[in-house]
Amino acid sequence: MKSLREYVADAAKNGVAIGHFNASTVAMVRAIFHAAQKLSVPVIVGFSEGERDFFGVRQAVAYVKSLREEFDYPIFSNADHTYSFERVKEAVDARFDAVIFDGAELPFDENLKLTAASVAYAREHNAGMMVEGELGFIGKSSSVRAEIPKGVNISEEFFTKPEEAARFVKETGIDLFAPAVGNIHGMLANGHDPALNLKRMKEIHDAASVPLVLHGASGNSDSDLSAATKSGASIIHVSTELRTAYRTAIQLALQQNPDEVAPYKYLRSAVSAVEKVVREKLIIFNHLS
Ligand SMILES: [Zn+2]
Repeated sequence: MKSLREYVADAAKNGVAIGHFNASTVAMVRAIFHAAQKLSVPVIVGFSEGERDFFGVRQAVAYVKSLREEFDYPIFSNADHTYSFERVKEAVDARFDAVIFDGAELPFDENLKLTAASVAYAREHNAGMMVEGELGFIGKSSSVRAEIPKGVNISEEFFTKPEEAARFVKETGIDLFAPAVGNIHGMLANGHDPALNLKRMKEIHDAASVPLVLHGASGNSDSDLSAATKSGASIIHVSTELRTAYRTAIQLALQQNPDEVAPYKYLRSAVSAVEKVVREKLIIFNHLS
């Protein structure tokens, strides 16, 4: 089987994006896997620090790997938003397929230094692993919000600048770059996040010369996401929409069957609900119909 690096290169070449979906539970991983498998497209399961603490750091890697091996299927694990070098080391040692050092809230030089250290550690201890860096703050939690996250400014002068992106990529040696181009973590309660600045994204991609990762795609329009794959985004992250689908389905299942105590019964509809969202996104990201 090809490596994640090769799948990302293929996606970039073909103008499609690999879907990256976050999971907190085994049920969510299964939903993500089944959706991808039915469409025959590669997929990445993301685990934030909170998600991998709940799942088990090594268990998250092992679970995804067991699906990859049993079904000979391109499903990969990513240690999403890792805020300290210590936790990058933990993710590298646990043998995730990819890791993100998220220094977007740090001063430029400190972010650069810690991202470069993350790359160096990964190269030495887990050579095949992809390392992603971020420049430009887009908020933190994957939640439904009344307004734009605190500290995030979605006007153009606050977006990632192509020349800074180029310097950051060159000096850190990262494989993947996550810019801020109007995308936000979480999604607005009205279901419509602000439009992405795809012109800026293309300029960043041209300057940075590595595949881009679009974070915070929950709540963005289908047309923006489809166009993003043509502007340099080779991986697109969705989390909040899965979380809301999962929770709503469980709530409904318990309301309808208040006496049900078997998790594998009342979680079934949550798996279907998550699978449906993942399927819809994968169709857009891969230009399937
Ligand atoms: Zn993210």
